[in-house]
Amino acid sequence: MTALNATHDPKLRSWVASANEAGTDFPIQNLPFGRFRTAGSSEDFRIGVAIGDQVLDLRATGLIDTDDMNVLMNAGTKERQALRAAISAGLAEGSDRQAAWSKALLPQARAEMTVPCRIGDYTDFYTGIHHATTIGKLFRPDQPLMPNYKWVPIGYHGRASSIGVSGQVFKRPNGQTKAPDAAEPTFGPSKRLDYELELGFFIGRGNVQGEPIAIADAEEHLFGVTLLNDWSARDLQAWEYQPLGPFLSKNFASTLSPWLVTMEALAPFRSKFERPAGDPQPLPYLDSAANRESGALDITVEVLLQTAKMRAEGVAPVRLTRGSVAEAAYWTAAQLVAHHTVNGCNLQPGDMLGSGTLSGPKPDEAGSLIELTQGGKQPITLPNGEKRTFLEDGDTLVIRGYCERLGAVRIGLGEVSGTVV
Ligand code: CA
Repeated sequence: MTALNATHDPKLRSWVASANEAGTDFPIQNLPFGRFRTAGSSEDFRIGVAIGDQVLDLRATGLIDTDDMNVLMNAGTKERQALRAAISAGLAEGSDRQAAWSKALLPQARAEMTVPCRIGDYTDFYTGIHHATTIGKLFRPDQPLMPNYKWVPIGYHGRASSIGVSGQVFKRPNGQTKAPDAAEPTFGPSKRLDYELELGFFIGRGNVQGEPIAIADAEEHLFGVTLLNDWSARDLQAWEYQPLGPFLSKNFASTLSPWLVTMEALAPFRSKFERPAGDPQPLPYLDSAANRESGALDITVEVLLQTAKMRAEGVAPVRLTRGSVAEAAYWTAAQLVAHHTVNGCNLQPGDMLGSGTLSGPKPDEAGSLIELTQGGKQPITLPNGEKRTFLEDGDTLVIRGYCERLGAVRIGLGEVSGTVV
C-alpha cells in the first residue's frame, strides 16, 4: 500500500484557484490522469491531469515525452511516485513553474475526453455480495448465493470494444428473451434495461504469462480507478446466462468516467478488509496482513437519473441511491489481481477489472434497478411523478464517486453519465 507523503498533505494548496475550492473533485491531493483534446478539434488525444476545473497538458510541462497513457501506466512504482511528486510540486502555491505551466492549462469545459487508455482486456467480477444475494434470490429463491461465492472471486471475461467514456449514447439492444410462462423465446428490444454501479480497476505494470502476481505485490500492478456503468439487459440475461454466464446482455455498451484516480491518491482513504463472523477466511493466496489492514477502499458512490422529460424541463438529475464501496465489496482489488493471475494468466497495462455491482446492505443502497424495483415488480416514483421499473429511451444515468475522511482533503472520481436511445 502507498504510504502517505507530501503530496497528500491536507495543507497543500495550488496556484490553480479552482483546485482550492471546497467540494472540488480535483484538489492538488488528487491529480488523476485522463486523455483529452480541445473540444471540436481533430487533435490527437494527449495525457492530461485534472486540477480544479482545468486540465494540465502533461507533455507540455516537460515531465513526460509520450502521449500514450499505456506507456505511462507501465511505469514502475518509483517512477510513478516521482511523477506524482513532480506534478504536485509544480502545481503547488509558490512554485516557480506557475508561469510556464499556466500555458499548459485548458478549462475542462473546453476539453473533449476519451476512454483513459487502450483497454486490451476487460474482466468483470461480482464482488458485491449484497447484489449477488438479492439477484440470486430473484433467479434462484432456494439458493441465492452459490456455494463457491465466499471462496472464489467470481468473474467472466467481458468485451473491451464497446467501452465508452462519460457522455456515451447507445441504442437499446435487441435480443432473444423468453417469459417464464412462454413456450418459446421472442426477438425484440430489451424491455428490462438496467445499469450497474461499479468501479473499474486499471492495471499498470503487467505480469509475464505463467508468473502469478502475489497478493503482497498486487497493488504495485494497480494503476488507478474509474467509475464504471456496466449496462445490462436483464431479460436477455435471464434467458442466456446458463451455463456460461452473461454474453449479449452485457457487451453492447459499458461507460467509464474519464479520470483515472491513482492508487497513490486513494492512500488516505483505505479501510480494513474484514470478513463477517462465521464466513470462511480467504485461502492463503488471497490473504495478506496488508490486505487485512487496509485492502478496502473508502469511496462513497451515488446514482442519479434524469429522464427525457426532466431534461426538457431543465430539471437536474435526481438521486436514486448512495452507498459505500467498502461495505458492498466482498473482495478487494488486490485479491482480484492475485486471483486473476494465480493460474498464470497475464495481465497487461490498461486491462480493466470491473468490481461487479456495488450494492450496500440496505435496500435503498442498491446499485441497480432490478434490486431497487424488486425484479421490476415495485416501480419507483420520481419526484416529478414519473415511474420507472427499468430504463426508458432518453433516460440519462449518472454515477458520481468521492472520498471523504477526517484529516484528509476530499477527492472525487468525477462522474460517468450515459444515455439510452
Ligand atoms: Ca457487471
